[in-house]
Amino acid sequence: MGEIPHFSAEMLTGRTREHIVDVADPRCSLHRDVVAPFLSMRSSAKGDGIDLMPASSFRDFDRQLAIWNGKCRGERELLGEDGRPLDPRALDDDALVDAILVWSALPGASRHHWGTDFDVFDAAAAPAGYQVRLVPEEYAPDGVFGRLGRWLEANAARHGFFRPYAVFRGGSRPEPWHLSHAAVAGAALRQYSVEMLAQALQSASLGAAAAVQRRLPDLFEKYVCNIDAPPGGGIDSAAATSTRLA
Ligand SMILES: [Zn+2]
Repeated sequence: MGEIPHFSAEMLTGRTREHIVDVADPRCSLHRDVVAPFLSMRSSAKGDGIDLMPASSFRDFDRQLAIWNGKCRGERELLGEDGRPLDPRALDDDALVDAILVWSALPGASRHHWGTDFDVFDAAAAPAGYQVRLVPEEYAPDGVFGRLGRWLEANAARHGFFRPYAVFRGGSRPEPWHLSHAAVAGAALRQYSVEMLAQALQSASLGAAAAVQRRLPDLFEKYVCNIDAPPGGGIDSAAATSTRLA
């Protein structure tokens, strides 16, 4: 990867696929500059007996909007911080927004829109018929993907990847299964702004829209900017603060 990739507002908010390449084996959709590093990491994992599979890769704005609105309407399960189901009708809009953001991104604000980020599991470790859930227990030291977790810890950085949700920093919950390409995602984050997000949401019919609009700068800071830095500090502090509002 030579030049710094350019991201338009449409790319950053998942409203185009022009930066995305569909990979046939394993089936996934990634940013064009992330395909080769991913396949190289996958082949290195294979050498260690790990079948590194993407559970979810590129996701567009409309898909994220459907998830959001499904949770608002009670058509899709809304889980609390403790993993127990919540009734959206029992919550006011602010509480509803907070509850959804525990486990789901705001449409336009998911790193999955960039094609630089994806969720992984180890298909070699899962017993036949196993339903991957992407929950912390699976990645615990004795969990079904505990070995994958240790492998990523030791090897992901060598292939250019890191975990942006490694520890809880007040925003997104830890997601040990979520990988990000440090250089390409770093470029995306530096080009992304809260104005782009506001604009993407303007024409969408979003549940709890008034609460989201009112709190947008805070939500952007808490859920978009507040991530774990890649090892070696791939996101320099000057660049990170340039996307922040005072
Ligand atoms: Zn993810």
